Amino acid sequence: MSRYRTILIFGAPGSGKGTQGKILGKIPGFYHCACGDVFRSLDPTSELGAAFLEYSSKGLLVPDEMTVQLWHESVRKTAESGKFKPERDYLILDGIPRNVAQAVLMEELIDVRRVYHLSCPDRDKLVARLKKRALRDNRLDDANEEVIRSRLATYDSESKPVLAHYSSARRHDIDATMTPVRVLNEIIKGLLEEVPA
Ligand code: ADP
Repeated sequence: MSRYRTILIFGAPGSGKGTQGKILGKIPGFYHCACGDVFRSLDPTSELGAAFLEYSSKGLLVPDEMTVQLWHESVRKTAESGKFKPERDYLILDGIPRNVAQAVLMEELIDVRRVYHLSCPDRDKLVARLKKRALRDNRLDDANEEVIRSRLATYDSESKPVLAHYSSARRHDIDATMTPVRVLNEIIKGLLEEVPA
């Protein structure tokens, strides 16, 4: 099997990965997969669903093997259903890989063509965005500031090192505090170099 042609949207919780991923996924030729959405679609009484609730409610990452397996199954199913056509489409990933171990496990499955790093060093800004999202989306892990801070700490210690795993030549750092349309514009500029005319 050849590897999925992949674009990674990378950044801390609240940096806008989902917002951008959803928009890009509407463009023909792109398919968006958010790892957190895959977890949230699980039955909370199933073994995996319960594990997800246990870890995410503490701001921790779900263990790597089960995460990558679940993600892979989900992508395979969408390919089988025809929603995602791997031979034609780019896979837009948001929320995975989230640590270096996951990046290694996924190496034989994805061919990472671009990494968009939505950068926001101002943590208070991210916390404010997540609190707003808690009200809008009714997300338990956004409702409590302690859990939010713990997710941001997990991002710094575990997720950030993923950036160094991929060649800096494929990486774009984008200021995540810009408006969504400006962030999108920066992403599109890079994609135009990548996607054949
Ligand atoms: P956010 O970007 O705000 O953290 P997500 O929806 O991407 O929101 O993730 C919510 C939670 O789901 C994470 O805090 C984590 O517990 C779990 N999760 C999502 N993706 C992964 C992953 N790749 N590996 C491990 N856990 C994950």
